[in-house]
Amino acid sequence: MTAVAGMNFSIDAWDPGYGSSMEAEELAQSGAEVELDVEVPAAEWAPIDPSPVSPPEAVLFVDGVRRIDARVWIDDPATSGEPANSASIGLCASYAAGVVCCCAGRAHVIGTDVRRGLFTVAPEADDIATPAGVYQAFRATAKEDKPLAVVLSSAVQEQLAETELKTAIEARKAIDGHVRGDLLVVDGPLRGRAHLDRAVGFIKSHQTTYLPGELNTMVGRLGPHQRTPVFLMGTTWVRHSWYLRLPSTGGPPWSGVVRVEAASHLGREEVAGLANLTQSVLGRFASVEYKDSRAPQNLYPIAGLERDLRHRLGDQQYVHRALRLAAAR
Ligand SMILES: [Zn+2]
Repeated sequence: MTAVAGMNFSIDAWDPGYGSSMEAEELAQSGAEVELDVEVPAAEWAPIDPSPVSPPEAVLFVDGVRRIDARVWIDDPATSGEPANSASIGLCASYAAGVVCCCAGRAHVIGTDVRRGLFTVAPEADDIATPAGVYQAFRATAKEDKPLAVVLSSAVQEQLAETELKTAIEARKAIDGHVRGDLLVVDGPLRGRAHLDRAVGFIKSHQTTYLPGELNTMVGRLGPHQRTPVFLMGTTWVRHSWYLRLPSTGGPPWSGVVRVEAASHLGREEVAGLANLTQSVLGRFASVEYKDSRAPQNLYPIAGLERDLRHRLGDQQYVHRALRLAAAR
């Protein structure tokens, strides 16, 4: 732990709305390259019914939550005396990753990791010790073509993804030996996690259309538990993917539709097997409509894990006061 000596900083007034506007950092993914002939020739695309599979003994869900606790202004010691012009902005964020294991009819959390970080481009940034824990300094690189808010928000996301990866690897190690076969479901894109065995990414929202017109229409007509054939898609990275409809009680054509991602290096048989597995396994975890407004795509083990993780971040007002105390020292 580094002392805060030397770094002068102040905290913005508490505004629980921070960060919410920065969530829209998703890159526009238009212009994705799609290869349809992975599992069946494009001309033979049709909805695929579930096939009998031997389910894994455990399904692991990994997810993370993040929260901006405060905006800080870090004074540049070289030009102190004119702080209005020389202070750099930073974000103090709390984030947590966790893994929930669903086995033998129960769901239990098997690993969590809560962290706090100071994200800034200020070269003089240093860790901030507070009564609520240490905010580890992460220096991001300013980018000419990106607003600072996006750069900092991406830096938080990157650390969260790294924490999720570490938590997932440790959780798997922990159950190794007493579980025969598992499936790891990452909430969100598989990017950066594609090297993990038997891992899939689980995408609930569909802002971009990847499939050509008539095939995209077919997605809307999938019956419960049906899926599309596997395709290969490349944006800034390449992965296998398929659409799958979770059981739902009516609603708009795409309600209950999720997109699943798997590593690009898998062979045809392997990826088709994984797709079949998700088809019979994921529907079991679809949340019931009245319990979750994002149902059924918001799988209930993930919803429960997110609640647990948010709780572990600690009370936001308490954390903000802790930061103000640290700034006043
Ligand atoms: Zn378990």
